[in-house]
Amino acid sequence: MKPLGPIPPGFTARNGELVIGGKIVSALVKEAGGTPLFVYSRDLLDARMAALRAAMPQRLKIHYAMKANPFAALLEHMADLVDGLDIASGGELDMARKAGFLPGEISFAGPGKTDRELLAAVRAGVTLNIESAAEARRALDGGQTLGVAPRLAIRVNPDFELRGSGMKMGGGAKPFGVDQADVPALGREIVAAGARWRGLHIYTGSQALDAAAVIEMQGNVLAVAAELADAIGAGLPHLNMGGGFGIPYFDKDQPLDIAAVGAALAERFDTLPDGLQATEFAIELGRYLVGEAGVYLTRIIERKVSHGTTFLITDGGMHHQLAASGNFGTVVRRNYPVAIAGRFDAEPTDEVNVVGCLCTPLDRLADNALLPRADAGDLVAVFCAGAYGASASPSAFLGQGPAREILV
Ligand SMILES: *Cc1c(COP(=O)(O)O)cnc(C)c1O
Repeated sequence: MKPLGPIPPGFTARNGELVIGGKIVSALVKEAGGTPLFVYSRDLLDARMAALRAAMPQRLKIHYAMKANPFAALLEHMADLVDGLDIASGGELDMARKAGFLPGEISFAGPGKTDRELLAAVRAGVTLNIESAAEARRALDGGQTLGVAPRLAIRVNPDFELRGSGMKMGGGAKPFGVDQADVPALGREIVAAGARWRGLHIYTGSQALDAAAVIEMQGNVLAVAAELADAIGAGLPHLNMGGGFGIPYFDKDQPLDIAAVGAALAERFDTLPDGLQATEFAIELGRYLVGEAGVYLTRIIERKVSHGTTFLITDGGMHHQLAASGNFGTVVRRNYPVAIAGRFDAEPTDEVNVVGCLCTPLDRLADNALLPRADAGDLVAVFCAGAYGASASPSAFLGQGPAREILV
């Protein structure tokens, strides 16, 4: 037997059936027109944001990194909740504008921005988090062409990394950001070229559950930012401190202690060096804001026994939930939180393998999991599906096509 991940807080049962946003999931499936279906809960998004605001110093702005989930209805909902949006492509810029985000609230990071994307960003007036000296020059050229002073910040590839993070995106050789040692010269060049100087962006990794590691990282970010701002000599209007807040996906994962992170940050804000006194501070979070608010629902097509092992074969799979299948940046496959939606509060009695409908052994949703008895027609719920689900999975694989999505 392999343990399942912890079901996130906020989910209840009515007559044994999983309820999301006040409705039983079989009703939601009917409403949406069938399975596979991603359901995102407004209530859970709101509750997460409220808890985070309560824990963090008031001065801290909270941005949403939309690559976690760009579903239009969810993005529109987030526009009312957060202080800013972080995008990573021209396509995301279009979606962000449609969702109602204002250019002044948007910053654009990501290596390999094309000239076309840079021009679109400069024209719209969004902040570009510059990832290299060459990109800075292309953005400045774009500004000249358009007769607009681009809003530029520098993304720093710092000399430290986020300890214990799932994916490291800073420290050492990286395609992301400008090496810390090269930032002062590039900053001076950008300011001298007449750009609107928007400060620094330091993002070092994601999926951290250890508060001590996040606190240490934020201390390092503030120290590096102060040193670099001093060397550039143009003040620091804005500092994007990165994010990295993780969520529990697997057995024994403990939620990040945001009260501890917030308290440590408040203390640091009280003792800022002179160069950062007037700075606006932001963090950018993806999965922490939306991951636990989403559930992937898929229907069992067949219950099959092979050599004594039971398989629940569903109409969904890795083409919608690549991360739950264990094929999105994990070394050892572990089970996400999974439940039989119609028997949400029933005792688990059966050891089963929940698999998808794709003709590949990679398509697994739960291995050797202990679940209540389930048969063809029953709904399986995969939790932690609000981030890196629908948009981060190969939905065209095997001609399957995308899942339905609703916000309730
Ligand atoms: C991916 C990414 C994020 C969001 O990461 P999460 O782990 O979902 O919080 C934030 N900022 C940058 C620059 C990213 O690349």
